Amino acid sequence: MEPKLLLVEDEPDMLEEMQTYLQREGFRVLTARTGMEALAIARSERPDLVVLDWMLPGKSGIDVCREIRQTSNCGIIMVTARSEESDKIVGLEIGADDYLTKPFSLRELSSRIRALLRRLRGPEEKLLLLERDNLTISEAKCQVFKDGQEIQLTPTEFKLLYTLAARPGIVFSRLQLLRAALEDGYMGYERTMDSHIRNLRRKLEDDPATPRYIQTVYGFGYRFGEPS
Ligand code: CA
Repeated sequence: MEPKLLLVEDEPDMLEEMQTYLQREGFRVLTARTGMEALAIARSERPDLVVLDWMLPGKSGIDVCREIRQTSNCGIIMVTARSEESDKIVGLEIGADDYLTKPFSLRELSSRIRALLRRLRGPEEKLLLLERDNLTISEAKCQVFKDGQEIQLTPTEFKLLYTLAARPGIVFSRLQLLRAALEDGYMGYERTMDSHIRNLRRKLEDDPATPRYIQTVYGFGYRFGEPS
C-alpha cells in the first residue's frame, strides 16, 4: 500500500500544487487547511507522514504537531516561511522529524518525504528479527527467546514487547502502547496495560522488581532498556 500523507496548509494554491505533485509521485494524499481539521484527519486516517505548515490560522502548526505527537509516531515535516535556527529547534523539540523552509521545490518536498519514510520504515524491515541485549524477538514467528530459551507470551504481551523493543530508549505512554499493541476499541483501558506489563516482566526479567528490559518512566509510561 502506498504511504498515506496528510498535507496541512492554509494557502489553497500551494496546497493543491503539493497535492497534485505528490499524488503523481504515487502517494495517497489527504489535505487539511486548518489545525483543527488536521487533527481530526490525523486521528481518523492515521497518516504515515504529516507535512505541517507552521503558520496556520487559529491553532498553530506547533500546537498541531504537539497534539499529533501525543498519540502518534507518524513522520512530521514542519514547513515554515521563517528560517531562524531557534524555530528549527522548537520544531524539533516538539516532535517534528524534519524541517523545510519556504520557498522549496516540490521535488525537494518529495525527496524529504521519501527520506523520512525510509528512516521511519528502515528499521521495520530489519525488525523481522530483533536482537536486543540477550533477547531475540522474531516478528515473523511471534517468538521470543531469552538466552536461546523460548519464552511463551500472549499475543498482547508479544505486541507490547515488540513495540517497545523496536525503538529502545524511546518513551511510550500507556495510550500509545495501547494503540500500538492492541486492536481499536480498547480506548480508556490504559490501566490494563499495567497488568500486561507486570506479566511480561514476570516472564522475561531476572528480577521483575528491578526490571532490565521493560522499564517504567514515572509519569510517562514504559520503555525498553538500552544495553548498558
Ligand atoms: Ca500558512
